[in-house]
Amino acid sequence: MARTHFLGRDKVVYTMDPKAQPALRISPGDTVVLETRDALDNVIARADQLPVDIDFSHVLPATGPIYVEGAEPGDTLEIIFQGIAPAAQGLSVIIPNFGFLAAEFPNPYTKIIPLREGFGDFAPGIRIPLRPFPGVVGVAPAGEPVANIPPGDYGGNLDNKDIVVGTTLVLPVFVPGALLAIGDCHAAQGDGEVCGTAIECDATITMQINLHKAEHILRPRLETPTAYITIAYGKTLEEATKQALLDMIDYLQTEKGLSREDAYILCSLAVDLRITQLVDVLPAVRAVLPKAIFV
Ligand code: CA
Ligand code: CA
Repeated sequence: MARTHFLGRDKVVYTMDPKAQPALRISPGDTVVLETRDALDNVIARADQLPVDIDFSHVLPATGPIYVEGAEPGDTLEIIFQGIAPAAQGLSVIIPNFGFLAAEFPNPYTKIIPLREGFGDFAPGIRIPLRPFPGVVGVAPAGEPVANIPPGDYGGNLDNKDIVVGTTLVLPVFVPGALLAIGDCHAAQGDGEVCGTAIECDATITMQINLHKAEHILRPRLETPTAYITIAYGKTLEEATKQALLDMIDYLQTEKGLSREDAYILCSLAVDLRITQLVDVLPAVRAVLPKAIFV
């Protein structure tokens, strides 16, 4: 029988590490309620606390890792997000030498953003609708541990604003148990995440975790109520864009039975390419295929 587990924000990792000790063991089909810390490890709570001397070995804490019984390399892990509740306060910062316009904004800056009734109070007359999602969702890669800062085929720092409640994320499994870890909740974020931070906050996340045996995928993918989405990253935006597009063409061939040529043309007619983020070492792009075209 499926069970519900709780995992507190005292159990975090700063790397996706195939040798990490599991913080929790679950069976496929179980539900997990977990607490996450904010991206800066909860060291800033007031506007007069500036993001200087940030310890980059202690950013992007991810709660976990969660060992999924029976998961083996080549399987696919499915995470259905059922609840994402942000804390009552979030923050955004400008960190020196970080962000897409780092050269233009050399000084540290902290902005505290109260979160209430579904909005972030940015300034008098400006409120941002909340659309909370975890920035970091990943499993352990094979081989060496990786820091939670760049994204990868194992997920990691995806910063993908579509991973909201109602979305299903699938990740490839690389090591026994998968070793899933989740953190870095964003109460809201624009595509690009240009200053390097979103509305960073603590959160409580509820999700169901399923396992599909030997249903091998190469990279994370999303299904929202309205779209299928491929996710890719690269050394450049162009490299990331090409990969997201090639993955969507593969998806249309394997899942919808289209010829490669028809898949390419359909992407040109109906798929939106969106900049996911520009700031996490490796920029990321996603290809968004609307479900509504399938009748
Ligand atoms: Ca973040
Ligand atoms: Ca992030």
